[in-house]
Parts: sequence; C-alpha cells; structure tokens
Amino acid sequence: MKISDITLGRIKVPLKTPFKTALRTVNAVEDIVVVIHTDSGHTGYGEAAATAVITGDTHGSIIEAILAYIRPRLIGQDIADLNHIVHLIQTALERNTSAKAAVEIAVYDLWAQRYDAPLYQLLGGGEPVVATDITISVDHIDKMVADSLAAIERGFTSLKIKVGKDIGLDVERVRAIYAAVEGRALLRLDANQGWSAKQAVHAMHSLEDAGVRLELLEQPVKARDLKGLKYVTERIHTPVMADESVFGPLEVLELIRMRAADIINIKLMKTGGLSNAIRIADIAEMHGVECMIGCMIETSISVAAAVHLAVAKSSIITRVDLDGPSLCQFDPVEGGVTFNDSEISIGDAPGLGIRAILGLEPIT
Ligand code: MG
Repeated sequence: MKISDITLGRIKVPLKTPFKTALRTVNAVEDIVVVIHTDSGHTGYGEAAATAVITGDTHGSIIEAILAYIRPRLIGQDIADLNHIVHLIQTALERNTSAKAAVEIAVYDLWAQRYDAPLYQLLGGGEPVVATDITISVDHIDKMVADSLAAIERGFTSLKIKVGKDIGLDVERVRAIYAAVEGRALLRLDANQGWSAKQAVHAMHSLEDAGVRLELLEQPVKARDLKGLKYVTERIHTPVMADESVFGPLEVLELIRMRAADIINIKLMKTGGLSNAIRIADIAEMHGVECMIGCMIETSISVAAAVHLAVAKSSIITRVDLDGPSLCQFDPVEGGVTFNDSEISIGDAPGLGIRAILGLEPIT
C-alpha cells in the first residue's frame, strides 16, 4: 500500500449555535480535509482546523504546508513504514501543527486499514465508547443557564463553561449555573487565557468559599505565562488544566517539571497529530498526570482520530472534550465514529471507518 497522491478539499458545516470564548466567536466549521490516495485503492482521511489565535495556522498556511512541503516527501512511501512517514511529516517544516495533524491522521487511518483493524485496536485496544462533555459558550447569564439546562436534558453530565471575559461577571455566571444544575453535571471552567494569575486566584477563592465545586479550571492565564499558571495551581484547591500553554511533548515535560498544572489538555491540532499525542499521554502517565483530550472546531473526521486515541489511552486520558461534531448542524461523514450527543462510539470498520465525506469542495 503506497501513497500515490494527496489531495485537499474544503468542508463547511454550520454550527447549531455560535461558539463563543474569551478569544473568538465562530459560526461554522470551515476546515481543510486531506485525502491520501494509495496504489491499492484504499483512501485515508484527515482534517485540519485553522485556529489562527491558538496555533497560528490559517487555511492558506495549511494548504501551502501540505502541498508544497509535506506532499512531495510522501508520494511513493509505503504505509507500512509508519514511523518513517511520521518522521517525514514532522520534519518537513517547523510548527504548522494543524497541517501535520491532518496528514498524520490520514496516514494512521491507512495504516490501520492496512492491517484491517479499527485504529484504536492497533494503538492498544480498549472499550470503544467514551462520554464527552459539551461547551457552554460565554454569553449573558440567563442564556448560559438555559444552555446548561438544555445540555443536561440531552444527557450531558459534564459541561465545559466558557468564561474569561469579565472576571466579576464570570463569578456570577458560574454561581448561577452551579445553582441551576443542582449537582446533575460536573462543571469544567475554561477561561481561555482571559484572566491574570492574581485575578484567577481571587475569582476561584470566591467560588470555592461560596461552596461551588468545580471539576477543573482550564487555562486561566496567557499561554506563555507558565509561571502565572503555576502561581494559580499552587493557590487554589480546584485542579488546574493547561491547554494553550502546552502543544508538544517538550512543553509537557517542562510543565510537569515546573508542576505548573495538574492536568494536560491534549489536542491533535496542537501536537501535530497522533504520534506526539501518544508521546504526551505516555509521558503524562509516567508522571501520574492525567490528561483530557480536546479538539478545535472540527468535524467527525479529525475528531474520530482523537476518539480512537482516547479509547486506547483511557488509563491516562480520563476526560473527553470532543464536542466538535455535536456542535455541528449535521455530520458530513458517512461511516466513521458515531457521535450521539454525549455518547461517542467506534464501530468495527478498519482504520477510522470513514466511507465518504459529503459536500467536500476540492482545492486545486
Ligand atoms: Mg481550552
């Protein structure tokens, strides 16, 4: 099974409701899809999200990185040489983690198809069902409370509450949601870099003192402010999770060495794909640091790969935040992983199990 061509397409799927964080507002998924063709007739699929404010990747940079730098190295490569192909992808150019992730996902899809097994089985196996939380976008308090209650009605038992806009209002938002859900769901707080370290400690102390129990606080401070993250981690009872502060394995090692956070949020668009995500999970497990697996605004193509990883590494990836597909108005993928609100399940088709992608616009 040799790579004969790599082509790209655009996928656009409107969201059910706008996705709002302290950093941005998004109304639709608009991602780049990678299709790897082989001489055996097998097809591998991957996807890249352009999250300029987090990874720096744009549609233009993703397309250029894949077509001009990664694609020429991979044509003719044998899928069985997985580690060699991964090395070619990762060393094709610096950074550009979303472009690398998309290509790696398609390569791993083919690699598992080559051995005729679902990807998670080749990554170590596991129970092919996970439960995800859902994002509650930052908004007026009444709207956030209503969205939280609606999510509980749909069966979600973990809510990721977006805050970080205005610290006084943020505390009120969380208190109102906590009171409304009455213990029916765990609350995860994501400040998306919106607070200073001192503000974060102050806000969390006032919530903790008021008896509000949160599962975790995610990325309270700026991505580069590891010292600030450590400052918060040392001063609050609620576990702190690093998201934008850590991309790859080296940053994870530094974070663990500094004890700057309690939990690590792994996202394929930050790690550059599955190979480094596996490394991070292994490093974290060695150090007894739990992980969450998350995603950007992605469809069920790239999120499927994250689900396979989450299943195979469930001993250390103890939390799942893969709500991208359930935020979409429809699923553009035929086959693949099944996203049914909070419950995500993998079938027994080889690779990622994707048979076709609807509405893919070719990029020429
Ligand atoms: Mg986050």
